[in-house]
Amino acid sequence: MHSRRLAAAVTLALATAAPVFTVPAAAQAAVPEVAQSYSTLMYRSLTADATMAKLRATLAQQKKTLVVRDTEVAVATREDAAAQARLSTAVTAHSGAVDALAAAEKALAAAQGDLSLAGKLRPRKKTVVERARKAVTVATTTRDLRRKKVQEAATRLGVARSGAKAVAAELTTALTAQAAATTALGTTQRRIDTAPTAAALAAQASTVSRSVVDRVRPSFTVADTASVHGVTVHRTVAFAFRRMVDDAAADGVQISGGGFRTKERQIELRKINGCPDVWTAPSSSCRVPTAIPGRSLHELGLAVDISSGGKTISRKTKAFTWLQANAAKYGYVNLPSEAWHWSITGN
Ligand SMILES: [Zn+2]
Repeated sequence: MHSRRLAAAVTLALATAAPVFTVPAAAQAAVPEVAQSYSTLMYRSLTADATMAKLRATLAQQKKTLVVRDTEVAVATREDAAAQARLSTAVTAHSGAVDALAAAEKALAAAQGDLSLAGKLRPRKKTVVERARKAVTVATTTRDLRRKKVQEAATRLGVARSGAKAVAAELTTALTAQAAATTALGTTQRRIDTAPTAAALAAQASTVSRSVVDRVRPSFTVADTASVHGVTVHRTVAFAFRRMVDDAAADGVQISGGGFRTKERQIELRKINGCPDVWTAPSSSCRVPTAIPGRSLHELGLAVDISSGGKTISRKTKAFTWLQANAAKYGYVNLPSEAWHWSITGN
């Protein structure tokens, strides 16, 4: 038994199914490990449909989420491309403005050189000096204008750079969220693909039912039992037995019976049922088959003598027919010689 993996699966099953089903997990700590494994398998078997429905609902939700994340990534990718294009334009514009400023500064220097030369001309030519001074004024205006344009281009470049950075961060966030959504979806899908069927889990439980009896018997106390719809059964089978009674009722079949009985009561029954002796004569030698004290599964709460409508059932009853068709799902097997006797091993 992979008990650790099993325990993890149970924790998961309990976590997902807890609002609907409850198992007295803490109380079960007192019973042997194989009995815990058995009840866990039966619990998982009987809640397999609910667990699967929950997983499918989760998967549907996760698929919707992934569509949203995909859209977010597509939008962020487009925005990132647009921001990069804006940045590229801003870089080109800034570089162009810087070049234009350099040309204006060069032209201004040339005009200032011309003015200086004109001032040195002898004889002095007033019109030439005036023209050169005007040229310097025009070149200065142009230089100032282009200097301003460089400043404006630098501002736009800064805005484009921080915009591109912000959009890139948004794209990273969107991609991370998309990857997380994909992973979550994959995890749920794998859980669905690998979830064992209810029948497989019940079959697995049945393979350890004899070990449950062997391990439970030496340490058994009455405290290990629980009352389910008035029938006292071992805690290991309480959940499954309750479900069996409830599901039978839903199908219109009333089920009750006698479960746990003490060794003292078993001794008493051996006498009442006319067994040749209390301790050695086989069960079949009694007027009503009655197990030797210390060997009956009733003494562990792992067998139930089923009654329906206040009467012990026979093979002809509706309850027997229902049990024959359904009891295995709940881990109950009939002892062929006694139509009413159902236990986890069939003994
Ligand atoms: Zn019985």
